[in-house]
Amino acid sequence: MKDATEATRAANRAALADLPVADQQSFEDARRGFIEALGDRLITRADGRLVWTLQGYEFLSSEQPPDTVHPALWRHARVNMANGLYRVTDRVYQLRGFDVSNMTIIEGDSGLIVIDPLISTEVAAAAMELYRKHRPARPVVAVIYTHSHIDHFGGVRGVVSTEEVAAGKVTIWAPAGFMAAAVGENVIAGNAMLRRALFQFGAVLPRGERGQVDTGLGKSVSLGTATLIAPTHLVEKPVETHRIDGVEIIFELTPDAEAPAELIMYYPQFRVLNMAEITTQNFHNLLPLRGAVVRDALAWSKYIGGALHRYGAASDVLIAQHNWPVWSGERVRAFLRTQRDAYKFVHDQTVRLMNHGYVGAEIAELVKLPASLSREWSTHSFYGSLKHNIKAIYQRYLGYYDGNPANLDALPPVEAAKKSVEYMGGAEAVLAKARRDYARGEYRWVAQVASQLVFADPANGDAHELAADALEQLGYQAESATARNAYLQGASELRYGVPGLPSDAGVPDVIRSLPLDMYFDFMAVRLDGNKAAGKTVVLNWRFTDTRQDYVLNLENSALTCVPDAQADGADATLTLTRATLDEISLQKTTFAAALQSGQIAVTGRGEKFVELLDMLDTFPLGFPVVEPRPSRSPSR
Ligand SMILES: [Zn+2]
Repeated sequence: MKDATEATRAANRAALADLPVADQQSFEDARRGFIEALGDRLITRADGRLVWTLQGYEFLSSEQPPDTVHPALWRHARVNMANGLYRVTDRVYQLRGFDVSNMTIIEGDSGLIVIDPLISTEVAAAAMELYRKHRPARPVVAVIYTHSHIDHFGGVRGVVSTEEVAAGKVTIWAPAGFMAAAVGENVIAGNAMLRRALFQFGAVLPRGERGQVDTGLGKSVSLGTATLIAPTHLVEKPVETHRIDGVEIIFELTPDAEAPAELIMYYPQFRVLNMAEITTQNFHNLLPLRGAVVRDALAWSKYIGGALHRYGAASDVLIAQHNWPVWSGERVRAFLRTQRDAYKFVHDQTVRLMNHGYVGAEIAELVKLPASLSREWSTHSFYGSLKHNIKAIYQRYLGYYDGNPANLDALPPVEAAKKSVEYMGGAEAVLAKARRDYARGEYRWVAQVASQLVFADPANGDAHELAADALEQLGYQAESATARNAYLQGASELRYGVPGLPSDAGVPDVIRSLPLDMYFDFMAVRLDGNKAAGKTVVLNWRFTDTRQDYVLNLENSALTCVPDAQADGADATLTLTRATLDEISLQKTTFAAALQSGQIAVTGRGEKFVELLDMLDTFPLGFPVVEPRPSRSPSR
């Protein structure tokens, strides 16, 4: 990792001059109600593997931003260091800095209501332990998942057990559509998302002034045991009021904005508004760098406006499931107006320019937040990034295609790179010009053109070096933590290759909850269409424990399924339990081994099933991103 260049120093100095540095309110807000810190504790798995620690972030104690970090991100990364147990108000507590997300605890009349039990059981249990050290010992009587992302439910079994829930001692609340979204959002494109998430969160980057400093929403993500217990109660109407253990909670659904299934809450007796992840202390993502279905900025803004209208006047404090609270009614209302208008402004101006014929890359250069918004820290792009969000809005309405037919069937990366480099006079000439531009600080272009050199010739070491250097400086200049992580991860892979990544079998509770339809949809995207050419297979599936029947049909190189049916002329019938299927998904056994052991009973032509299995791909996690795929790559 290299130092900041003079151009990067100048860029970060210039950025500093535009920032509302006098506004130190966030530090005060993040400290308020502090009881005890998590500090530099190590939270580990039962087998000793590290799950979470804030160790390694000591370098953030300095107020002065280093040259290698955007000054606004530096400040934000420092505020996100506030960690431990906090009292929000009477009977409302938060645990922050135990994960990327917050856990909120409300003290009911007889027990505790836990909101969002973090990603892993280990950090959730540690958070509860710190709470219980300071507050009366009471059982958890309810858990609320604000939304379907794993940083808001994964640690649930560190807080309550499935037995307690089954016995009716604990109720679990979630927004309508929670389970489908929670188990489904990362399945079909899961492997690609997992790989790209490595760039977004910078989880394998070293922490430091030249490495990972934050994620925008919190410091990092915990790496422990993720779990899921299905909700016992769903909020289905747009607004529902429930009394849980003596606490009145107004639930309001906010679907298809930050998450497919989400809710916010207002607690009248405490005058506390909990905005879940609909507001954060930054401009959120309309399209995370890991990839997702594009989110709806317009709906998002309306949810915030609605919350302001209905609860603003009656709120003394606003909390959320990331970052820190906002205190006093006046400031809560100002914050909600600011957040509402940041999403609305960017949405409307993007669409306005779109309708003038501008394309995403152009609009991203043109739209700047008005001063009245940009002087608020909470509109800054610490998680999402303004430019990327503008392109996401374009994508939501118009798609990837910019409308210019010259780009309708553009050459793919390697072919385009080879042609470009040749037209530009060959690699040596391009490299010489790119080095000149690097010296001038034109890193965006150098990153682009050096990437073309790498794609044209993956053996070009000088091109790798220059591409890495350019990405690194872009990372040092990025206000967005996720953009910084992506640039620095890219630089690292250009220099050292793809890091060794453990294979990921998925979250057992999530796999067990996967609807069979989704299971077969995922099996179908593993089908290698070339291997399947000309083949037909019809399989009846009978699941004896869940009493489900399916027909799986392969023809035309497409695998389709029909639930609640059995085909008369099927090649074979497979009889098994859902539990066996889950064991296979969790890589505890294989289809072949389960056939061998009789866990799967087959009648008919069992070899047709084996034939189908041979057509299914497995996905490598460490596929190349900043370099071209090796020419003898499988799965083409
Ligand atoms: Zn979250």
